[in-house]
Amino acid sequence: MVLGAGIVGVSTALALQERGHAVVLVDPHGPGTRASYGNAGLIQREAVEPYGFPQDLATLLLAAVGRSNAIYYHFKALPSLVAPLLRYWRHSRPGPYARAVAAHSSLIAHSTEAHAPLIAAAGADALIGKQGWHQAFRSVNRLAKAVADVQRIRANYGLNCQVMDGEELAAAAPALKQRMAGAVLWEDAWSVSNPGELVRRYARLFERRGGTILREDANSLRSDGAGWAVGATDVGSSLTSAQVVVAMGAWSDALVRRLGYRFPMFVKRGYHLHYRIKTTLAKPMLDTENGIMLSPMSQGLRVATGAEFARLGASPTPVQMHRSNSIVRELLDLGETVESQPWMGARPCTPDMLPVIGKGHLHQGLWFNFGHAHQGLTLGPATARLLAEQIEGGATYIDHQPFVPAALRALTVGSPVLERIYAEISTLRPFGARRHRH
Ligand SMILES: Cc1cc2nc3c(=O)[nH]c(=O)nc-3n(C[C@H](O)[C@H](O)[C@H](O)COP(=O)(O)OP(=O)(O)OC[C@H]3O[C@@H](n4cnc5c(N)ncnc54)[C@H](O)[C@@H]3O)c2cc1C
Repeated sequence: MVLGAGIVGVSTALALQERGHAVVLVDPHGPGTRASYGNAGLIQREAVEPYGFPQDLATLLLAAVGRSNAIYYHFKALPSLVAPLLRYWRHSRPGPYARAVAAHSSLIAHSTEAHAPLIAAAGADALIGKQGWHQAFRSVNRLAKAVADVQRIRANYGLNCQVMDGEELAAAAPALKQRMAGAVLWEDAWSVSNPGELVRRYARLFERRGGTILREDANSLRSDGAGWAVGATDVGSSLTSAQVVVAMGAWSDALVRRLGYRFPMFVKRGYHLHYRIKTTLAKPMLDTENGIMLSPMSQGLRVATGAEFARLGASPTPVQMHRSNSIVRELLDLGETVESQPWMGARPCTPDMLPVIGKGHLHQGLWFNFGHAHQGLTLGPATARLLAEQIEGGATYIDHQPFVPAALRALTVGSPVLERIYAEISTLRPFGARRHRH
């Protein structure tokens, strides 16, 4: 039983099915609706280094006083966010960050090769572009700074990319009205013109291969004799399974907490709107200074925002989306919006920037695959393989240890003082798993 039918759950279901398991996917909304619908559509083979917490004062100050469009936060959410963000900040310091990069890059190296057979079998080739994406810069200084990083990344990870000046970018993207300083063209990335549709096609492939999709709320999950059950409690109307995988993205945290596991997870919410546009971009482009992603999609040009730090269930506050409207109109000849209200979704984040993939150590037959943050569309199939191999009990294709959901994982860089602050602020038990009561 796989709970959650986003890209991670659907990919996990396919990977288990491929290994001979009978699999049921459980999701009240059906496949590919939440973050997996509304993302920017990049399969980011080049994203070897995860987004760390900003370490420079200038970026932090801009965000703190609300001057950055890339980062926005709810003041009211700060008390609950301080603890996970402190951890995030500490994990982003050079030593721990290097360890996160080593693990993240080992996984993302397999991202496109893990998608490829699914795309082919699902008949989804027409949704995929393989021309990379432009990371565009307005400021010459920011571009120059990025170039040094690009050279390091290219040398260390063998990635393909080109640095373009303003003239070359204007020639490659004639839709641009304004001259930019230049861009980095990340050539190894793929783009998806309708990510929700890609997930739905993967889900149809799963059904064609004999899988079942059940529209049910997995919050009814309970241990049931030798296994797990969801659905109504009367005999005969609930679904039972010896093994269950929690792959509910941002909603995983609440479910696994109930079972006794505490991960200091948080969400980075994001918004998008589609715009009608006569001359669109040939490939996705990031307006780096403003943290706005512009992705040509089947619905129109998708303008997607950066990170909003807020509670998962808080009402939408599309401040970054409203600002993006005027910023992007400087760059492109945008028409009307397709939707009247922005879409909102949540990136499920962990402080150590790595997804949680592996066994829930307090229970038999309980497995986790969530916390894919900024790169879940990219990593879905690669992490599905890593989890399926753990469930099978054989060797894994990359080292799975950095991803295992052991309670101590997030404590590895915690200082006693910060742990204390964390415990005080969250007014909950100190971080760690407690014994379940089943
Ligand atoms: C604006 C934005 C841009 C992004 N751009 C990119 C990008 O370009 N490339 C990239 O790789 N990633 C990107 N991401 C991140 C990516 O979208 C996520 O990491 C990824 O979609 C997470 O997938 P998921 O399957 O874990 O979660 P989701 O897609 O959120 O799926 C979770 C599923 O769980 C289900 N669920 C919830 N509650 C229950 C319940 N009680 N019972 C059963 N099921 C339940 C939901 O219905 C949903 O289907 C972006 C995210 C955002 C917000």
